[in-house]
Amino acid sequence: MLFGRTTRKPIAIPVKEVAQWKYTTCNYCSTGCAIEIGLNDKGKIVTSRGHAGADVNRGKLCIKGLLEHELFDSPGRGTMPLMRDKAHLPFGPASWDAALDRTAGKIKEIQAKYGRDSFAIVSTGQLLTEEFYTLGKLVRGQIGTNNYDGNTTLCMASAVSGYKRSFGSDGPPGCYGDFEHTHCLMA
Ligand code: SF4
Repeated sequence: MLFGRTTRKPIAIPVKEVAQWKYTTCNYCSTGCAIEIGLNDKGKIVTSRGHAGADVNRGKLCIKGLLEHELFDSPGRGTMPLMRDKAHLPFGPASWDAALDRTAGKIKEIQAKYGRDSFAIVSTGQLLTEEFYTLGKLVRGQIGTNNYDGNTTLCMASAVSGYKRSFGSDGPPGCYGDFEHTHCLMA
C-alpha cells in the first residue's frame, strides 16, 4: 500500500497489477509534476505515481496527483454533450454535431444582436501551450471577439497580490534550487 501524505488520515492507495507505465504531466496545477500512469494488461488505467527522474517533483506527488488515475472512470464524468430545449426540461444526450451547431448558432445570434465583442470566453488553466494558441486563434480570428482571457490570469491576480505584499516580489521569489540550501522549509 502507498499512503497519501497531505491528509490527516492516511488514504490507502492499492498498488495494482501494472503491465505498462505511460509518462505524462499532472493536469491539476501549474507545478507540472511529471507523472506515470499505470495500465493493466487490458489497457485499463489503474494507478499513478511520480516520475523519479523529473527535477520538478523527483518522484513525489501530492494527493491530487496520486489519485489522478481515478479521473478516467469516475462516476458522473461527462462523456457526451447534453442539451435541453427549454430551461424547465431535463438535459438529454446529444451528438457533438448538434451541440456544436447549436453553440455556434447561439454565438452568432448574440453577436448579431449586440455586436462581436458582446461575447466573451474565459479559458481554463489546464490547456497546453498549443491548445492556448489554437483557442486564441479561434476566439479572435473566427469568433471575432477581443474579450478573451484565461483562468490563469484571474487566479494569479490574487496570488501576485499576496506575493507582492508578503515578499515584495510579483512572482514566487524562490526556485527549486533553493531547497538544497535552506535550513528551514515550511510547506
Ligand atoms: S501532483 Fe499536485 S503539486 Fe504536482 S502538479 Fe499535480 S496537483 Fe500540482
